[in-house]
Amino acid sequence: MTPTREKRVVRPAAGRVALVGAGPGDPELLTIKAVRALERADVILHDDLVGDGVLAYANPKARIVAVGKRGGCPSTPQAFIEQLMIREARAGAFVVRLKGGDPFVFGRGGEELAVLRAAGIDVDVVNGITSGLAAATSIGVPLTHRAHAHGVAFVTGHDADGAHSGPDWDALARSGLTIVIYMGVAHAPHIRARLLAAGMAPGTPVAIIANATRPDQREASATLDDVVDVIRDEGITSPAIIVVGDVAALAAPRAATTARPISPAALGA
Ligand code: SAH
Repeated sequence: MTPTREKRVVRPAAGRVALVGAGPGDPELLTIKAVRALERADVILHDDLVGDGVLAYANPKARIVAVGKRGGCPSTPQAFIEQLMIREARAGAFVVRLKGGDPFVFGRGGEELAVLRAAGIDVDVVNGITSGLAAATSIGVPLTHRAHAHGVAFVTGHDADGAHSGPDWDALARSGLTIVIYMGVAHAPHIRARLLAAGMAPGTPVAIIANATRPDQREASATLDDVVDVIRDEGITSPAIIVVGDVAALAAPRAATTARPISPAALGA
């Protein structure tokens, strides 16, 4: 009989990581799963797009680490964030990686998931309401209203004039889809030029929403033709969503739509 060669290694209780969507800012838009994760977290690593009201749900004993960047400022290196998550989870902690909006919409959630899995860490992903949806809803814009659009495309404006090719603006212009652009404000001149060159009508309605669902939300209506001037004149800056398409004409001021809190106090209970 061959002797069994069994090694007994003493390990700390296995920790795990949850990639959690914090939604667009309004804490009432958190999912119940997200709140439960926050309440149980030992360590929370959050981006700076995560609103303070959201962190109010954190376990008071959790170690809270801000790892974000604010447009242009140096960010915590991605590798550092990943190593920190791996180290803490291996030490037995329940780590919540809290990301603005949804973790899998332009949030590097996919990269972090792959790295954590490769390291053998147990990972959960919790959806959040992505800012592109929340921004449109906050001004009453139904993104796929069937009289106006065949669907919706979520695209990044970030690569519009950079080294990468970015989305196929020609195809988008002809698609009949509502175009919801993330990270587009700084690149609006290029996006406008590309869509016009592709034959999109200059009068195509556009809505721009900054800081959607937060107390400092700003919104403006424009056309494809004057969108750059409107962004400048209204002083709209990142983080903002740009909605391009006929549905944008349905925009109503935020106060007329969904901004009201749905809490017992607001309902008179
Ligand atoms: N994962 C996030 C997106 C991260 S990319 C999500 O699902 O929402 C960052 C971009 O998201 C910003 O440049 C901006 O275009 C958009 N964004 C995030 N929060 C926003 C908010 N509250 N209002 C408007 N745009 C927002």
